[in-house]
Amino acid sequence: MNRRYRKTVIAGNWKMNMLPSETKDFVTRLRDETADCKWCDIVLCVPFTHIYQAVKAAKGTKIAIGAQNCHQAAKGAYTGEVSCAMLADLGVKYVIVGHSERRAYFGETDESVNQKVHAALEAGLRPIICLGESLEIRENGAELDFVRTQLKLALKGIAPQSLKKIIIAYEPIWAIGTGKIATPRQAGEVGSAIRETLRSLYGARAARGVSVLYGGSLNKDNAEAMLAMPDVDGGLIGGASLDAASLNSIIKAADQ
Ligand code: PEP
Repeated sequence: MNRRYRKTVIAGNWKMNMLPSETKDFVTRLRDETADCKWCDIVLCVPFTHIYQAVKAAKGTKIAIGAQNCHQAAKGAYTGEVSCAMLADLGVKYVIVGHSERRAYFGETDESVNQKVHAALEAGLRPIICLGESLEIRENGAELDFVRTQLKLALKGIAPQSLKKIIIAYEPIWAIGTGKIATPRQAGEVGSAIRETLRSLYGARAARGVSVLYGGSLNKDNAEAMLAMPDVDGGLIGGASLDAASLNSIIKAADQ
């Protein structure tokens, strides 16, 4: 973390878990436990069906609500899809874009990720752009090039003044939901490569303001070491975000 230049962000990703009726209690509990949080931005990315309850329960607290996906078009004949304007109108502030599960199971490409980043910014949402390599790519030693390319494609056409709205999440696919976490050194190395790439695209000043999160089996026991890396500015948390106490422990580790 480097609080001098950028925010520390802890974002939970519930994926397709929890019920709308469980949302209010969870948010209320998290609100109470994080009331004294000073340094950390807290985001909870819930399923579309939970957004209304989540926004209502989080009103006036330090918790911002995010979505886990959006459609790139502003509106139209896209049955079953949800636009960024719809999310913003509900009070959503963040949206995860390009999560590896969406890339793997729902045909999301670097091109659609880029379109979604544009759509999110246009609607006033802050995109959390997910990047990360497969195990095969890492075993071939190609992870830095892979992540740099994903980042450049995701940011194609994004104006320098929009960069401060963007959050990057480095999520190695082999560490997501597997219990196999990257070492702080591995995450820090990719985090630095991401920042270097941002620097080459937008200049040093803009690059140093971007929060780069790590995601992949982060929990209360490994968060502190991970967050000690200068280019790991927080976490995107799946499994451990389903329990308010464990999410709160990670927030506490980030808020020290
Ligand atoms: C995720 O899917 O964004 C994630 C990081 O999941 P987990 O924490 O469960 O590995």
